[in-house]
Amino acid sequence: MKIAEVYCKNALSRSKISGMDYALNPYIGCEHGCVYCYAEFMRKYTNHKEEWGEFVDVKINIVDRLRQQIKRTKLGTIMIGTVTDAYQPLEEKYQLTRRCLEILADFDFPITIQTKSDLVLRDVDILKRMKNKEVGLTITCVDPKVETLFEPKASKLHNRFTALEELKENDIPTFVFFGPILPFFSDREESIKSLVKKLKEMGIEEIYFDKMNYLSGKWKRMKIFLTQNFPNALNYYWEVVKDGELYSAKLESVLARSLAGFSLNAEILF
Ligand code: SF4
Repeated sequence: MKIAEVYCKNALSRSKISGMDYALNPYIGCEHGCVYCYAEFMRKYTNHKEEWGEFVDVKINIVDRLRQQIKRTKLGTIMIGTVTDAYQPLEEKYQLTRRCLEILADFDFPITIQTKSDLVLRDVDILKRMKNKEVGLTITCVDPKVETLFEPKASKLHNRFTALEELKENDIPTFVFFGPILPFFSDREESIKSLVKKLKEMGIEEIYFDKMNYLSGKWKRMKIFLTQNFPNALNYYWEVVKDGELYSAKLESVLARSLAGFSLNAEILF
C-alpha cells in the first residue's frame, strides 16, 4: 500500500448526487479495495500507477481548508465519502474525518455519511450533537466469506450490523445502502428477502438498492477475480455484461417481489 500526504485546494466540492449539495473526501483512493469499486475513475486525477486499492493520498491540510471554506459556503447537505471511504483504516491514525465533522457540527451543516466501516462509531459523540445527520452502512451480500473476498479490508459484515445497532441506540438516523447487489451472490429473491427481514427487525426503515454498475468497464479485473475465487459465477457475470438492460429489468422485478409485504422506505436507484 502506497500512502502519500498531499495538499488540497478545497475541502468541499459540489456534489452531483441527488439531494446532496457538497462532497467531502478526506482521502483519494481507498484501502478497502473493493473489487467492483465505482470510484476507480479517480485514478486518472492522480499520477498513481498502482492498482485501485493499493494507494491512498491523505489530504493532510483538509481540516484547515474546511475551516476557511465553510465560512463562505452557503448552508447545504454534505455527503462525506463519495469517492473514498472516509472511515477506512487510515482514518484511525489521521482523524481527518473526525476533525472535519467537528467543524461541520460547529457550523450546523447537515451531513450524510456512507461507509463500510464500524470506525464511524468512534465519532458518535460528535454525531450526537449534530442536528441534522444520517449515517448509512453499505452491505452488498449476506455471506461473510463472499463479502471478505469482494471487500478485503472493509469491516466484517457482523461489525457493520453492530455499527447500525449502536448508531440506532444513540438515536442517530441510519440507512442501509444495499449495493452493489452482487450478481449471483445476492441477487436472488430469498437472499434479498432475508436481508430486508433482518434489517426490518433491527429497526432500519430506510434502504437503498443499487445494481453493479460499470461492470463491462471492469471486466478484465472482475474476470481474473472470479476465475481465481468463484469460477462457477463466471458465466453468470458474463451474461450480465452482455445484456445489462435485461439483467436490470430482471433484478428490478426480483426486488419488487422481495420487498412486497415489508413496509419501509425503500428506493431502487437504477
Ligand atoms: S469502500 Fe467504497 S470507495 Fe472504498 S474501495 Fe470500497 S466501494 Fe470503493
